[in-house]
Amino acid sequence: MANRKILYGYLITHGELLIREDECMIVQNVYTSYLAGLSYQSLADRLNADGIPFFQESPLWNKHKIKRMLENPRYTGKDGYPTIIDQDTFQQVQEKIAEKTRGQLPHRTDMDRLWPKLRSGCCHDRLFRTGGPSGRTGKVRLRCSACGSTFAVGKEELLAQTARQLAAHEKPVCKPYAPSAEAVRLANAIDRVLEQPGDGKEAISCILRGASARYACCDDSMAAWEDQERTEQINWGRFEQIVSHITIGTDGTATVHF
Ligand SMILES: [Zn+2]
Repeated sequence: MANRKILYGYLITHGELLIREDECMIVQNVYTSYLAGLSYQSLADRLNADGIPFFQESPLWNKHKIKRMLENPRYTGKDGYPTIIDQDTFQQVQEKIAEKTRGQLPHRTDMDRLWPKLRSGCCHDRLFRTGGPSGRTGKVRLRCSACGSTFAVGKEELLAQTARQLAAHEKPVCKPYAPSAEAVRLANAIDRVLEQPGDGKEAISCILRGASARYACCDDSMAAWEDQERTEQINWGRFEQIVSHITIGTDGTATVHF
C-alpha cells in the first residue's frame, strides 16, 4: 500500500509547505472531537461514512491513522510545518491520550497465567507468592498456604520446565507409514517401466510421481511437534485447557499434571 508522501493537512507548492484548507478543517475537527470524547475508531468511522478520503490511493481511515494524527507535533508548527493546531489544544489531547492509556488493564504476563495452577509439593495446596522475581537471581519466593513451607523457583526455569513437559505430553504418536492405493499403483508401474527398454524419461517421470505420492502419505505432525519443542514456547490456550495443576517440589522442580 502506498503511503502519503506529505502529512495530511498540507501540500507542497513550488517547494513550499502550505496548509491544505479542506484537510486542515478535518485535522482541527478530529482534535476537537477527540477532546469531546470520540474514540479513534469512531472518528475513523465517521470520516469513512462521510466519504472523506485519507488520500486518493488509500482512501480509508482507521484508528491508527487517527492516533498518529492526534500525536503528531508537526501540526503545532514544528519542523517548518505551518500551524494547524494550537499548542494548548495539542497538549490537552496528549493528556487525554495518556489518561486513557493509564486506564487500560495491564497485559497478563506468562507468570500471571502460571500462578493459579501452582501447588506445593508438601501439601498439594495453593502456593502464595511472597517475593520476587528478584532482579539478581530471578528467583520467585513461594509459600505453601497449608504448612507455610517456603520455596524458591527460578521464573525462567519454571517456564522452561513447564514448556518441556507440555511438549512431551502433546507429543503425537507417529503413525506407521501406510502407502495409499495410488502410491502402490505407482510403485508397481515403476517396476514395470524399469524392465522395459527406453530412453528412461518415462521411468524418471514415473519415479517422481511415485515419490510425491509416498510423501503425501507421510505423517507431518511429528515435524510440527519438533518445531514447537525447539522454541520452548508455551501455547497458553492449550495450557489452560489441559493442565490441571503444577506441583513445586521442595527442591524447586516443577511437575505438570494433566
Ligand atoms: Zn505444605
